[in-house]
Amino acid sequence: MSTERDEAEGSQPLGIPRVAIVGGGLAGLCAALRLTDLARESNRSLDITVFEASDRLGGAIETLHERDYLIERGADSFLTKRPIVRLCERLNLAESLIPTDVRYRGALVLRNGKPYPVPEGFGLMVPAKLLPILTSPILSPKGKLRLLAESLIPAKRDDRDESLSSFVRRRLGDEAFERLVQPLISGIYTADPEKLSLAATLPRFLEMERRYGGLIRATLRRRGAVAENDGSASGARYGLFAGLKGGMEELFTALAKQVEISATVVTGARIDRVTREGEKWCVETRSA
Ligand SMILES: Cc1cc2nc3c(=O)[nH]c(=O)nc-3n(C[C@H](O)[C@H](O)[C@H](O)COP(=O)(O)OP(=O)(O)OC[C@H]3O[C@@H](n4cnc5c(N)ncnc54)[C@H](O)[C@@H]3O)c2cc1C
Repeated sequence: MSTERDEAEGSQPLGIPRVAIVGGGLAGLCAALRLTDLARESNRSLDITVFEASDRLGGAIETLHERDYLIERGADSFLTKRPIVRLCERLNLAESLIPTDVRYRGALVLRNGKPYPVPEGFGLMVPAKLLPILTSPILSPKGKLRLLAESLIPAKRDDRDESLSSFVRRRLGDEAFERLVQPLISGIYTADPEKLSLAATLPRFLEMERRYGGLIRATLRRRGAVAENDGSASGARYGLFAGLKGGMEELFTALAKQVEISATVVTGARIDRVTREGEKWCVETRSA
């Protein structure tokens, strides 16, 4: 194992600027592609190196093929209103984009070792329908009553941000948070909802409380006016998502191929330290 010291100089007046990108997941590869595109558009040269600690690119995204099954170990689809669709077009993957299959939309959560469908109409944290909540085996009678009492909970008065967990526990109760909302949210953000900012992640629910006084009130007031949830879907708004025919690996394989044309990609290279020495940034990697 050798220790390598790589000095990435922000902008040398005479030399070619060097850029070190730490991580070969989607963010790192997209950053490399964007930089090479910008450099080409402005007729400049950049010396870009992507350092990836593991022996494969893609980070949290990994597609497995087993017999006739395509299995995603991470993300399986993405919101079509995000720039990722433009990225697919840029990578000639537009033909591979597929919408979610309406027959299989919906989410299941595990309760006592068994998967149960999320109550119909329960969109992340808004109960759009009463009966499916009342008949769902996921919540106890007490948990159901607490959830449905949401419209009686006064709106928070101050403008301070709060965690996603704090918002949901406050409005829908602990049980609805732990048994329903937390599994749905962690499937989207794969992060601890105690640490996720509500304003940064799901501002539309914050807006519902601020504007209408609560989630149920907002749904009742907006019903008909906004097609937020047609009342039958549950979980995330799957109609707004798309995937790729060959799985998400299609995306990072095409991305990596494009990036490797104009940048150096090193796998098995964990960056241990990034330090600044005068005008220079030093990136230290221990490569195998
Ligand atoms: C189970 C799961 C399901 C998901 N489902 C969806 C979904 O359906 N739709 C959606 O939009 N999003 C989904 N996500 C989120 C999405 O996959 C991630 O937001 C995205 O892939 C993150 O990309 P990233 O490049 O920021 O991070 P990562 O993919 O985590 O990549 C970071 C990379 O950096 C490398 N690295 C870390 N430290 C160093 C270091 N010191 N030196 C060198 N390399 C380093 C890591 O090895 C890794 O390869 C899901 C995530 C998971 C885990």
